[in-house]
Amino acid sequence: MSDLEDLYREVILDHYRNPRNRGTLTGDAVLHAELQNPTCGDEIELALAFDDQGRIADVRFAGRGCSISMASASMLTEALRGKTREDALELDRQVQAMLRGEGDPPSPDQDLAALSGVAQFPVRVKCATLAWHALEHALGS
Ligand code: ZN
Repeated sequence: MSDLEDLYREVILDHYRNPRNRGTLTGDAVLHAELQNPTCGDEIELALAFDDQGRIADVRFAGRGCSISMASASMLTEALRGKTREDALELDRQVQAMLRGEGDPPSPDQDLAALSGVAQFPVRVKCATLAWHALEHALGS
């Protein structure tokens, strides 16, 4: 196993063991989505709140599942804060392309790059994309 694969595995396990922004949000303006990945048993609930500038002020996730699904959700919440709806959907497109093995990570500095290796494991791609599909549902896209 290469050093990069080791690093990526460490990043994924860190997000799995210490998930960022776990929880939920309440309020009339909160967008919610709940999705499941039956092939693995992953369940994700995503909650988004925008500020009055149209930027994501807070984003939380809840649920349970494998390390890939939970790490991907944790990374998503960190990556989305401060983004507009359009920026969030653009990031979603980039991540989904990366997970199909069709594109580079959105930014080499971001933890999201650690998910790029998942593209080699088609069964795990559904785990990694679950939170991002939930994002699309929450945004009504
Ligand atoms: Zn899974």
